[in-house]
Amino acid sequence: MSTEPLSLAGLPWPVEVRPHPGARHLRLALDEARGLLRLTVPRRVSRRAALQWAQGQAEWVEAQLARIEPGEPFAPGATIPFDGAPLLLHWDQTAPRAPALGESTLTIGGPRERFAERVLRWLRDEARRRLTDETRSIAAAGAISGGPVAVGDANTRWGSCSASGAIRYNWRLVLAPSHVRRFVVAHEVAHRVHLNHGADFHALEARLYGGEVSAARSELRRLGPRLKRVGRSN
Ligand SMILES: [Zn+2]
Repeated sequence: MSTEPLSLAGLPWPVEVRPHPGARHLRLALDEARGLLRLTVPRRVSRRAALQWAQGQAEWVEAQLARIEPGEPFAPGATIPFDGAPLLLHWDQTAPRAPALGESTLTIGGPRERFAERVLRWLRDEARRRLTDETRSIAAAGAISGGPVAVGDANTRWGSCSASGAIRYNWRLVLAPSHVRRFVVAHEVAHRVHLNHGADFHALEARLYGGEVSAARSELRRLGPRLKRVGRSN
């Protein structure tokens, strides 16, 4: 197809639209090798209607992506990405239970059966701390007023901003390189001023981020499936 893949809100991969006169139904397929979704559009369906339909398939897409590769459980000896670099999860029964971050190792003590739970709690705390700091600093640099910051594990979104300026991030962003995380922060902080994705929003987002927004966005899209496997036990 000659058309460039489109990035659609809600879908983790870009979409390549393929008009197909012989097709009887709209169809969405994962092209793992190319890292995109193929949207097959029958003759009678408009491009606009097809894209709208595709956006409604976000959960199906996430489920397919999750099935492609097995999860990466938090187990002693496993290596996970953290702040964009590999981090070895090390269990030492005699060490304190509270995880201790070293150069490229996280050492965790206490009983083995609580290991995964302690790793997850530590990562969520780190995510909340770092994302709160990063949100404050980007908002301050843009002279944008604050609001509460929280972390969660929303499956299809990296961040969201309410009309009151409250921002919620996916804790998994702490696994990503800091420049990718900063892009999500700049995006959500820009929403405190513009609750839409219009031209003014994009100008502010670019100014707050201070780098190549499209590069960071595609990097996050590429990393996303791996980040979502981390800590999953199957
Ligand atoms: Zn947005």
